[in-house]
Amino acid sequence: MKNGIHPNWKHDVKVTCACGNTFTTGSTLDSLHVDICSACHPFFTGEVRFVDRQGRVDKFMQRMQTAASKQAAQQAKQKAQKSDKTAEPTGPAKSYQEILRDQQSKLRQAKKATSAAA
Ligand SMILES: [Zn+2]
Repeated sequence: MKNGIHPNWKHDVKVTCACGNTFTTGSTLDSLHVDICSACHPFFTGEVRFVDRQGRVDKFMQRMQTAASKQAAQQAKQKAQKSDKTAEPTGPAKSYQEILRDQQSKLRQAKKATSAAA
């Protein structure tokens, strides 16, 4: 081993978890404090539990709720649009007829105007 480049390795370092579990490991630090360990992590315990720090789960749930409400509003809008479309199947035909009538009447008026001017 080259001298002066290797950190001082300690073989008996006490690790303290937030759940109260303690065990020893090797480290360059004097002592370790961890938030989660194999005694309390849901993967090892098998229980379904949120390990929530800084309220991130709450934030996520809030975002989920807002997204769900937005989605519901959008779906309601789409349903309303669909019902509008289905409510007037004869609407476009009438409007086309109206458009044709309007155009014809405009043409007639224009013809009258040109004939009156001439
Ligand atoms: Zn733990």
